Amino acid sequence: MQITDVRAIQPAGKNSPPDWRTSMGQILVAIDTDAGITGYGVGGGGLAGQHVVRTVLRDLLLGRNPEQISQLWHEMYQATLAFGRKGIAIMAISGVDLALWDLQGKREQLPVVALLGGTPGTKIPTYHTAWSTEDLSTAGEHAGYKLHLGKIAALEQHDLMVDSIEQARITIGPSPLLMVDAWMKWDIESTISIAREIKPFQIEWIEEPLSPDDLAGYAILEEKTEIPIAGGEHEFTSEAFRPLIEQKLHTVLQPDVNWCGGLTELIKIYTMAKEAGLRVCPHRGCEIWALHAIAALDPQPLAETGRPWMTWVEGQPDIHQGMIEVSDRPGFGLLFDERRLPLVN
Ligand SMILES: [Mg+2]
Repeated sequence: MQITDVRAIQPAGKNSPPDWRTSMGQILVAIDTDAGITGYGVGGGGLAGQHVVRTVLRDLLLGRNPEQISQLWHEMYQATLAFGRKGIAIMAISGVDLALWDLQGKREQLPVVALLGGTPGTKIPTYHTAWSTEDLSTAGEHAGYKLHLGKIAALEQHDLMVDSIEQARITIGPSPLLMVDAWMKWDIESTISIAREIKPFQIEWIEEPLSPDDLAGYAILEEKTEIPIAGGEHEFTSEAFRPLIEQKLHTVLQPDVNWCGGLTELIKIYTMAKEAGLRVCPHRGCEIWALHAIAALDPQPLAETGRPWMTWVEGQPDIHQGMIEVSDRPGFGLLFDERRLPLVN
């Protein structure tokens, strides 16, 4: 089989936030082959991500065998090294990598979960991410809930944050898991202080309190906070996860498969984390791209609800009574008509 074309577009999602999540938002990568099979993946980076796919990556991929996923990943990484390594170039590679895995599944007539040794139809518990305590009360049934503090995470709002976390625990009741996400807006001192204050509310983890670059800060937090620290949503490539894992800087690792380098990198992160005895809980795991890996590779599976504005991704399984079931359709199991997708640009 040979690759005959590589395309990238940015479909428009309903009510996507009017910020970088639209302007630099998710892109659809399509890889055509001479066997008449097309693989689809989702990466990131908006128009800039599309440009990386349409130029450097397409030049590299045309005429190549799409089954050599690891080799192609390595060549894409090398070809983007001068301007890549993290951020948009790796987001673009992620979309290509996922399209290659989708092709592999379609070629073998197997869902990706089966390619990874897992079982189609596996049910996975879900957790819902909410941006306010009011949103939590209408979130439906889930195994857990995460309060995203992005809108109120400035440190001068310390008391408001602690009050909101207490209110979140009251709203969901004593049984479900409760997590909080600081979205890289705290510092070491405030994280230690807030962690102490919210401990009575049974918090499963505190997510991304510091910048992903502050490894020294995370080393201090792992020692000084009793609540587990989660992170990795804004990290790129398995090599960048290596120090996080080897130094045990996070208790829960949260790679985003559409950004971190695709499924090829997520598999390596799962393998390293397993050896270190750490947990992986991929960012927005209910979206189809990470769900197959969670079903096949995760000893403690838990899937985060997806972004509500990814409305153009059809074939996404529904959540029933706090559980989501991985599809048995070939590849990632997506169903859509590429020609009818509304585009951002
Ligand atoms: Mg987060």
